[in-house]
Amino acid sequence: MARYTGPVCRLCRREGEKLFLKGTRCMTAKCALERKNYVPGQHGRTRRFKLSDYGIQLREKQKLRRIYGVLENQFRNYFERAERMKGITGENLLRLLESRLDNVVYRLGFAPSRRAARQLVRHRHFMVNNRVVDIPSYQVKPGDVIQVREKSRKLEIFHASMRRIKEGQLLPWLELDKARLTGRFLDWPKREDIPVHVNESLIVELYSK
Ligand code: SF4
Repeated sequence: MARYTGPVCRLCRREGEKLFLKGTRCMTAKCALERKNYVPGQHGRTRRFKLSDYGIQLREKQKLRRIYGVLENQFRNYFERAERMKGITGENLLRLLESRLDNVVYRLGFAPSRRAARQLVRHRHFMVNNRVVDIPSYQVKPGDVIQVREKSRKLEIFHASMRRIKEGQLLPWLELDKARLTGRFLDWPKREDIPVHVNESLIVELYSK
């Protein structure tokens, strides 16, 4: 599946907030938003305008899409699947995005960002239920066990990641055994447990037009 390959900090600047796309760098003074907190482009510093309702909905959709690193067509497919599921469409959409394998690897702390997680998955470092999976969009289900492959366990990136995780930091729908580099997706997350600051109902309104 295709992915965005342009400059990522530009995406945060466009949305006017940190989307945490670059891992540890996002927490430092090197973050582009700390230095250039205005929209990118020639007139970025001077542009001031009020967004229309459509503009607000569009920005919310772009923000969510960019956080999870999903392109437009694939995002639309997620939305259509969310619509067909029981329950609230916006929440279903977030659950589907949260259960992507690259996101679960990131949430478990094996990688500092979703982009890094995506690359690690592509490089075949992970198994789901004892089978190697190299598809970042692979949909993880409750009960699935995600682990670093035996031959990848000596890689420093995983041990450095495990050292970064602090007690109580893990999200409630996940379980992690740091020593065995193994995690479990316990259940579908509740909306209030998903730390993503978007108003998903605006996205539902946008696609319902
Ligand atoms: Fe966004 Fe991180 Fe770049 Fe800051 S460093 S602009 S949070 S991707």
